Amino acid sequence: MANPRVFPLSCVVQQYAWGKVGSKSEVACLLASSDPLAQISEDKPYAELWMGAHPRGDAKILDNRISQKTLGQWIAENQNSLGQKVKDTFNGKLPFLFKVLSVETALSIQAHPNKELAEKLHLQAPEHYPDANHKPEMAIALTPFQGLCGFRPVEEIVTFLKKVPEFQSLIGEDATAQLKKSMNEGSGAMASALKNCFSHLMKSEKKVVVEQLNLLVKRISQQISNGNSMDDICGELLLQLHQQYPGDIGCFAIYLLNLITLKPGEAMFLEANVPHAYLKGDCVECMACSDNTVRAGLTPKFIDVSTLCEMLDYSPSPSKDRLFAPTLSQDDPYLSIYDPPVPDFTVMKIEVPGSVTEYKVLTLDSASILLLVQGTVTAIIPSVQAEIPLSRGGVLFIGANETVLLKLTVPKDLLIFRACCLL
Ligand code: ZN
Repeated sequence: MANPRVFPLSCVVQQYAWGKVGSKSEVACLLASSDPLAQISEDKPYAELWMGAHPRGDAKILDNRISQKTLGQWIAENQNSLGQKVKDTFNGKLPFLFKVLSVETALSIQAHPNKELAEKLHLQAPEHYPDANHKPEMAIALTPFQGLCGFRPVEEIVTFLKKVPEFQSLIGEDATAQLKKSMNEGSGAMASALKNCFSHLMKSEKKVVVEQLNLLVKRISQQISNGNSMDDICGELLLQLHQQYPGDIGCFAIYLLNLITLKPGEAMFLEANVPHAYLKGDCVECMACSDNTVRAGLTPKFIDVSTLCEMLDYSPSPSKDRLFAPTLSQDDPYLSIYDPPVPDFTVMKIEVPGSVTEYKVLTLDSASILLLVQGTVTAIIPSVQAEIPLSRGGVLFIGANETVLLKLTVPKDLLIFRACCLL
C-alpha cells in the first residue's frame, strides 16, 4: 500500500498565561471540537495552537499506518513530500509555523530582525537570539483582533504630545520640537525625528516612567469616573495595559504606534523591523520558523534597547495602510490568498457555502497544512482511496502534489485556512 502523504494531525496547545481562559478561547474550542477526549479546564489559559513541526511543539500524526510519531520526524524521512523547491530552498524542513492565537492579555511590543541582523545578533548573543533566521509573521483575525502595528502618522503623535503631558515629559522638549518641525520637511526628517522620540522614551529612567504613568492613570481614572470617555487619548486601553503591566514603558507606546482592530478575515503582515504587539482577540497566524524577537515593552523579559532603537522601521503611516489585503483567486470563487513578500509562507482562506456538496482543494507543488475552522467534511484522498473525517478544529497535513476533495457531510458553510509555501 502506498505511503500516506495526507493525514490528520493532533496539534500542540501552549497554555501561556496571556491566553484566553477555558471555553472563551478559540484555541480551546477548536481543540474540544476536534478531539472528543480533550478535557477543557475552565480555569486554565489556552493561548496558542501550533500546527507544524517546530521542535518545541511538533504535531503528532493521527494515522496508525505511519510509524513516525511526529510531523517533524516524518518530514525528516519523507523530504520529497515538501515538494522539490521547498526541500531545496529550506534544507528539507517545513519553512513555516502555522498557529491559532487566543489573546486575553497583551503580548510584548516587539519587532523581528531581518535576516542580516538576525545572523549578527545570533552570533553576538545566542542566549537572547536563539537562531539566525528572520521571522516575518502574518495575523488574520478570527474574531475582532486588536493590536499595535507600525508608527502612527506624525500629526497623530503630535496631537497626543499636546493632550498627554505625561507622555510629552518622557519624550522631552527637544525631541518634541524636532518632531513638530519634521512635518514640513519630508519623510526622511520625520523618520529621524520619530527615532529620536522613541529612543528618548525607551531610555527614560524607570522611576520617571512609573511617576508619569501613575499621574496619567490617575488623571484618566478620574475623568472616566466623571463620565468623560477619554477615547481621544485611548483612556480605556491605557488603563487596561497598566493593569496588566503596571509601570511598564510599553503603556506609552500606544501614542506612537497605530492601534488597529482587525475584523474577521482582515490581516496584518509584520515584516522585518516593524514594531507591533497583539493586544486582544483570536487570530490565525503564520510565521517563518524562527524564535528571534527584540522586545520593546509590555514584558518582564529582556529588552535590548539599543538594538531595538537602531533596527526599527520608523516610517510613519496611517493604520489603514497596515492592513494586508488578500487577492481573490481567478479560478476558484471560494479562495482568497494572503501572499506576503517573503518566500517562507502564504496563507489561503477558503469559504465554501453549505449548499456545495463537494470542493476540490487546490493541488500545490509544496506541502501545506489545512485547518477547518467551521463546518464538517470528509476529506477524500483519491491517490490512496482514503477518507478522513474532519470536524471543526480538524488539522490536515497535505504533501506536495496531493489531491484532496472535501465532501460536505453537513450542509453548513466551511471556513478553512491553509498555510503553504508558494515559491
Ligand atoms: Zn511578532
